[in-house]
Amino acid sequence: MVNYHAHTFRCRHATGAEEKYLERAIENGVTHFGFSDHAPFVFPDGYESTFRVPMNLRFEYMETLGKLREKFKEKIHVFIGFEMEYLPDYFDEMLKTVNEAGAEYLILGQHFLGNEHPEMFRVSQGSDDESLLAAYIDQVIEGMETGVFSYLAHPDMFHFTGDEKLLESYDRKLCRAAVRLGLPLEINLLGIRSQRCYPRESFWRIAAEEGVEVVIGFDAHERRAAYDEKSIAVAMELIERYGLKYNPYPTLIDPRTKQPRDMKYDGIDSTKKA
Ligand SMILES: [Zn+2]
Ligand SMILES: [Zn+2]
Repeated sequence: MVNYHAHTFRCRHATGAEEKYLERAIENGVTHFGFSDHAPFVFPDGYESTFRVPMNLRFEYMETLGKLREKFKEKIHVFIGFEMEYLPDYFDEMLKTVNEAGAEYLILGQHFLGNEHPEMFRVSQGSDDESLLAAYIDQVIEGMETGVFSYLAHPDMFHFTGDEKLLESYDRKLCRAAVRLGLPLEINLLGIRSQRCYPRESFWRIAAEEGVEVVIGFDAHERRAAYDEKSIAVAMELIERYGLKYNPYPTLIDPRTKQPRDMKYDGIDSTKKA
């Protein structure tokens, strides 16, 4: 098993030592583990979001995890990246920030509609407004089209409370874009563990129909979630029930070159898309 979605205490809503995450992952046979804490960023007016790696810790984050990679290199492959939003007005600046820090990969995690700041609309809060859903889907697709992201985390995060048929058409639009771009979508285990509005069954049924590539992301915010057999089993059951096209060996993309990385999967050509 592999996992490329994990946070650290630096984002202020995760706890425990990164070393403990890795020990738990190794004990349970995880061969590849990626840290993807929230991308550091300062908005032009000086505002710094409280859930991100603080700007002044971005190099320390890379360095600390780099040392752990070295320490555990015989047992596990460690990758160091970020979970990052696509904020239309600030994308270039944010990408520059994470690339300067040395990001090895990025996953797209779109938690807000628009630019997050100063107007903040959290997409998990729920809305029946089609125009918000439409804008969100367009924003996510634009983010996917930048080519810097390795996959889309929790694609089903928008909590739409309006008409189901309408929602289905937007789900389909997102899934078709993912297939066109060859970008995997993530079944998010934090959503399962915390019983959030995602993963949403109706989304994954459509994802199966559209033939999207699926990956599993632990979204670990503490040691135990660095291997949580219960949520893994729920995700696997979902994959089997709908016949989803699961890729257990995702390819990470280098955000600087937009080229696939050498993933060191034994005997598997990871550059070949599933
Ligand atoms: Zn997220
Ligand atoms: Zn996350």
